[in-house]
Amino acid sequence: MDSLIYFRFFVDVVHNITNIIVFWGSSGLAFTMLFAGFVFLKEKEKRATGMAFLLVDVFAVLSLTVYLWGDEFKYICVLLSLSVIFFTAYLFTPSIFFKKAEDVTPSGRIDERNTMFSRNELIPGTEQFERYYNEFPEHRAKDDIFRANHGLLSKKTAFFSPLAFAMADAGFETVKAFHSMVNGNTARDAVMVDENKLDFFIREWLKKRGAVSAGVTQMKDHHWYSTGGRGDRYNKKYIPKNELGIAFTVEMNGEMVACSPKAPIVMESSQQYLNAGAIATQLAFFLRNLGFEARAHIDGNYEVVCPLVARDAGLGEIGRMGLLMTPQLGPRVRIAVVTTNAPLKVDDRNYDPSVEDFCSKCLKCADACPASAISKKDKEVIGGIKRWQIDQEKCFTYWSYAGTDCGRCIGVCPYSHPNNLFHNSIRFLIRHFPNFRKPAVLLDDFFYGRRPKPHKFPKWV
Ligand code: SF4
Ligand code: SF4
Repeated sequence: MDSLIYFRFFVDVVHNITNIIVFWGSSGLAFTMLFAGFVFLKEKEKRATGMAFLLVDVFAVLSLTVYLWGDEFKYICVLLSLSVIFFTAYLFTPSIFFKKAEDVTPSGRIDERNTMFSRNELIPGTEQFERYYNEFPEHRAKDDIFRANHGLLSKKTAFFSPLAFAMADAGFETVKAFHSMVNGNTARDAVMVDENKLDFFIREWLKKRGAVSAGVTQMKDHHWYSTGGRGDRYNKKYIPKNELGIAFTVEMNGEMVACSPKAPIVMESSQQYLNAGAIATQLAFFLRNLGFEARAHIDGNYEVVCPLVARDAGLGEIGRMGLLMTPQLGPRVRIAVVTTNAPLKVDDRNYDPSVEDFCSKCLKCADACPASAISKKDKEVIGGIKRWQIDQEKCFTYWSYAGTDCGRCIGVCPYSHPNNLFHNSIRFLIRHFPNFRKPAVLLDDFFYGRRPKPHKFPKWV
């Protein structure tokens, strides 16, 4: 008899506690969804807005049910509430209780001649063309496929849009105007500057010029292309220099990226290559004015592999789609680098294993890629290290059909959401709570769709 009384007393206590937790928990979630709904509305995400307001109703009904009828269905409520509490505790188990994945340092160097931009510039019938395919015959058949399409920014491509294509072309051509200034002589009459002041000045100036993130790394072998593949650097062998690399990112506008793979994406890419190129060229010029060697690496004129430099400068990780995933904007950035012998502070690598783990669960870019160019497999050993590699030929063939640089993978990536309180909170949870990652993918699918449709063009485009 006594034990029955104790049991009932125990159920009553648990019931009261869990009722309070579930009532306040569901009320809190209803308010969170209300907040999310307005955030999505502002971001012009129609589906996500609808889903958020739907969840406001669901959580409001749940909290009301617990409040009004919690006492009548005591045992069911206790069971349900305990399940919710245990599940929440499971979701938010901190990452310190999980084994940390090992950081992998890339090895070997990339030959720029094998990149698609370089192969695209080869002109059939020329000596350079024949020499390349004699050296790399395995690329010939695949390259013939993209050459059969009309090509990037062509009027005959699927997503031709006169204004957007003309502006994109203008952007790419304007970046070329900087090519003659990426390198140059250092000033002979330079004044001495304080090292700490210089470091601080550069970081603040980059922010002021619109960089979302910036960092400095010691340049290593794998940062440098082995052989040049574009312009007058074709076939030039690069010798890695013992220098520092300043890497920074600039944001690609979310509204334009959301239209991918249609015309606004290529216009935005070209715009941000231009912005990043202007900033990097000016920064290199500035350092040379102070008597240091400095070379900017900008669109169409790289000696270094920018995502790898940025990764080692602490700006992010390389994700499934092979791009730099930044903590603030995921892959929705463009990168530029300045290599220099100026005495700057080197940043920590800042390894974040959560990105790889999240990518292994997400696969949204792979599902959304119109060319099926992104691997759905786990990382594979390629060139001696474990990594993901996209099928660059399939990707570029799609670009030369679409006329744009596609970017659908960037548009759908859950990390690409805007840099605001709501999305940053989700990124924080993804980073610190490994069990939250899979549900986060499911939630992203719920709000935005597994294969979100491209948005309509902004009216002015
Ligand atoms: S879409 Fe998903 S899998 Fe692809 S890069 Fe982004 S987080 Fe990783
Ligand atoms: S840019 Fe487009 S085609 Fe290329 S990998 Fe991304 S989604 Fe696929």
